[in-house]
Amino acid sequence: MNNTVESSLLWAKKLLKENECESYALDAELFMMKTLDISRVKLFIEGKKVLSDDEYKKFKEYVEKRASGVPTQYILGSCEFMSLEFFVNPFTLIPRNDTEILVETAIESFKKYRVKNFIDIGTGSGCIAISLAYYTEARGTAVDISEGALDTARRNAKHNEVFAKLNFVLSDVFSNINDKFDAIVSNPPYIKTDVIKGLMREVKDNEPYNALDGGDDGLYFYRKIVKESVDYLNKNGLILFEIGYDQGEDVKNILVENGFCDVKVIKDLAGLDRVVTGIKL
Ligand code: GLN
Repeated sequence: MNNTVESSLLWAKKLLKENECESYALDAELFMMKTLDISRVKLFIEGKKVLSDDEYKKFKEYVEKRASGVPTQYILGSCEFMSLEFFVNPFTLIPRNDTEILVETAIESFKKYRVKNFIDIGTGSGCIAISLAYYTEARGTAVDISEGALDTARRNAKHNEVFAKLNFVLSDVFSNINDKFDAIVSNPPYIKTDVIKGLMREVKDNEPYNALDGGDDGLYFYRKIVKESVDYLNKNGLILFEIGYDQGEDVKNILVENGFCDVKVIKDLAGLDRVVTGIKL
């Protein structure tokens, strides 16, 4: 069989489109680039190249995985966040663009309040903690309940050359933590249990369930983290959360009820509530 780059791409785009993969054309091209280890420009110059049997088999495998609902980033094995590269796998949530709002807000606050150390609860791929270690002077502790996620986060910290600024701890929120911090950051699981089954297959069947489930009302981790934070925050300590678009009021109230001041809800680029911050005097 003479499978060329061009004919294989045509086949892949058609299959992915039929299987309702939104960015089917780009996905097909990314899988071909990965198969042949070539750049995008090269991809179009090499249209007539005939794939070896091994190359075709590899490409077909990537495409069929994607067609069955596996997210592109898990197949490629990495993605970009805050202009850094992160390895991802089914132990970790795929970093979202929206989460850059939390990181950018944290970078500004860390500078303003001279934050020296922080804890990132539910670090997953480590995208938040690693970006903060990369773009600020602060040192951090990254915790997760999943050993698989922590391993990935450690690899990502090494890959982005901030391993020496971070500490990785297997911990259910604060259960294995004894230190105090100038700031707590977290993008905890915040989806209502009932809502998860209605999410797209890429998320509900592929991303780690325990990274999504925020309990009956989606607020379980905000309450837990805020209640327990008194023992782990230094004076004038900051808290910064990512939240779901409809959780601004609720999370703000949780912070105010627990004595936090200067509580702010910050919107994302789509104009939706996305981040809540507060200070514990
Ligand atoms: N902190 C990680 C992220 O933002 C994981 C978040 C999560 O699993 N809920 O990607």
